[in-house]
Amino acid sequence: MNNRVFNTLQSVFGFSSFKKNQEAIVSSILDGRDVFAAMPTGGGKSLCYQLPSILLPGITVVVSPLIALMKDQVDSAVQIGISAAYINSSLDKDKTIQIYRDLQKNKIKLLYISPERFALTTFIQTLSQLNISLFAIDEAHCLSDWGHDFRPDYLSLTNIRKFFPNTVIAAFTATATKQVQSDIIYKLDLIRPFITRASFDRPELSYRVVRKSKTKDQLLKLTKDRVGKAGIIYRTSRNDVEKTAAFLVANGIKALPYHAGLEERVRTGNQEKFNCDETDVIVATIAFGMGIDKSNIKYVIHGDLPKNIEGYYQETGRAGRDGSDSECILLFSRGDSVKINYFINKIEDIHEQEKSRHNLNKILRYASRNVCRRKQLLSYFEEEHPGNCNNCDVCNNENELIDITVDSQMILSAIARTGQKFGINHTIDVVRGSKSSKILKFEHDKIKTFGIGKSKTKEFWHLVIDELLGQECLIQDSERYNALVISEKGTDLLYGRIKTTMFKPVIEKSKKSREA
Ligand code: ADP
Ligand code: ZN
Repeated sequence: MNNRVFNTLQSVFGFSSFKKNQEAIVSSILDGRDVFAAMPTGGGKSLCYQLPSILLPGITVVVSPLIALMKDQVDSAVQIGISAAYINSSLDKDKTIQIYRDLQKNKIKLLYISPERFALTTFIQTLSQLNISLFAIDEAHCLSDWGHDFRPDYLSLTNIRKFFPNTVIAAFTATATKQVQSDIIYKLDLIRPFITRASFDRPELSYRVVRKSKTKDQLLKLTKDRVGKAGIIYRTSRNDVEKTAAFLVANGIKALPYHAGLEERVRTGNQEKFNCDETDVIVATIAFGMGIDKSNIKYVIHGDLPKNIEGYYQETGRAGRDGSDSECILLFSRGDSVKINYFINKIEDIHEQEKSRHNLNKILRYASRNVCRRKQLLSYFEEEHPGNCNNCDVCNNENELIDITVDSQMILSAIARTGQKFGINHTIDVVRGSKSSKILKFEHDKIKTFGIGKSKTKEFWHLVIDELLGQECLIQDSERYNALVISEKGTDLLYGRIKTTMFKPVIEKSKKSREA
C-alpha cells in the first residue's frame, strides 16, 4: 500500500517526497479515519485529498468557498490526469446536469463544490445515490464563529455526517486556534479524527511594526524602496484605499485599488493585472484576499491596525508563497484602535462584542510589546517559539527603547508587598498613591511603595505592566480574579539580577512636559 501511495506521488504529481504531515494525512484517509489538519497556506493541502481521490474506490467531494479558484484547481487536477469537475453557481444548468450524469457513470473521481449546495436537500439526495469515499472540507474555519471568517453557508455542512455516517471526512484549514479546532471537530462530528497541526511558522517572512505618522508618505517611501516588486497594501476604509492608490500613482508607482465597492469589472480587472505583474502594488481592503493565487508577492503592508491577529497573520501569509524572503510591515498607531472600538461598541450581540474587544487587545499587545513578533504571533496559535527569530524588528533592535528596570521594580515591589493578590488597576493605584476606598480598606497606603510612582501617568504604568506580562515577568492568575503574580524571571528583575526595556511610548508629550 505504501508503495502505491509513493508511486502515485511520483508518477501523477511528480514529487519525490511528501511535505511535512502530508503522508500521515493521506495514510489516515486511506485507512478510513477522519482527519483534522491545520496547515499554513502553501503547506500543500490539495495533495492531501487529491492523492487519495485517485486511490479511493469512490468519489472525493471537496467543499471549497473559493468559487474563483475552483476552475483553476480543477484544470490543474485534470492536467495531471485526475478526472475532476466542479459544480457552483457559475455553471449553467446543462453543464450541471452533464456533471451529475458523469458522476453517476463513475466518470468523475474528484468533485469540487461550494458549501451552499449542502443547504439543498435535493442535492444531498443526489449525493447519497453516489459512491462517495471522502469529503474534504477546505477552509474549515469558516464553520466556526470563533474564527475570523465565519460563513453561515458552512453550517449546512453539519449535515454531512448525518447523511453519510460511514464516509471519511477530512477538514483542512490554514488558520485555527485550539478553540476553532474543537468547534470544527464538533460541528462536522468527526469521529476519533487524526489531528495534525503543522507549524504555522513562516521563517521566510520578516515581521516589522513601524510607528505610523504620515501614512501616505510612509507608504510611498516603502513602495519606492521596493519598486518592481509585487506588494499588497491593506487599508481599512475604501476611501483610504482609493486615496492611497491615487497618491502612489501620482508619484510614479504602479498601483491599483481593490475594494468591494468597485464595479465588478474594475475589481477583477485590477486583480488580474496584479496577478500577471502588470502592476506592482495593489492597495486593498481585506476584501482582497481569498482567491489570490500569486506566489511572488514580496511584501504586505498594513497601513492601519487590523482587527485581530488571526486575520493579520493570514493576510501577511500571502507574501512569499514561493518560499523566498518577504516582508510584512504594520504601520502602527494606537489611535487606530479608537476607530475599531467605535465599531465594536456598535455590535449588538454582547458575546460578539466581548470577543472583538479581546481580539483587538491582543493585536494591540502584539504591536506594543518588546517581544519577538514571531514568538507573539505563533503563541496566538498556541505554538511555542523560543523568540530571538532574528527576522523581526524586535530581534533586529530596530526600535527606540527605554530602560524600565527601576519602574518595573516599583511595580513588582508593590505586587509583592500586597501579597500577589491584586489586579492591574489596584497595583497602579498603589504606585500612584491613590486614596481609593479599596486602598484604604486594605491599608495599602501604609506600604513602602505607596505613591512611589505618582509622577508618571496611569497609561505609562499600564504599558509597563503589559510589558512585564509580555516578557513573562508577571503572570495573570485567571482563577483568582486576574491577580498579578511574580514569576521567577520577575523575581530576578525585582532583585536587580536582570534589566529590562520597553518601546519608547508614543503618546507621551503632555506627560513629559509635566515631568520636566
Ligand atoms: P495550500 O492549499 O496548502 O496553500 P497547495 O496545495 O496549493 O497549498 O500547495 C502549495 C505548493 O506546494 C504547490 O505549488 C504544490 O505544487 C507544492 N507541493 C505540494 N506538495 C508537494 C510535495 N510533496 N513536494 C513538493 N511540492 C509540493
Ligand atoms: Zn523575532
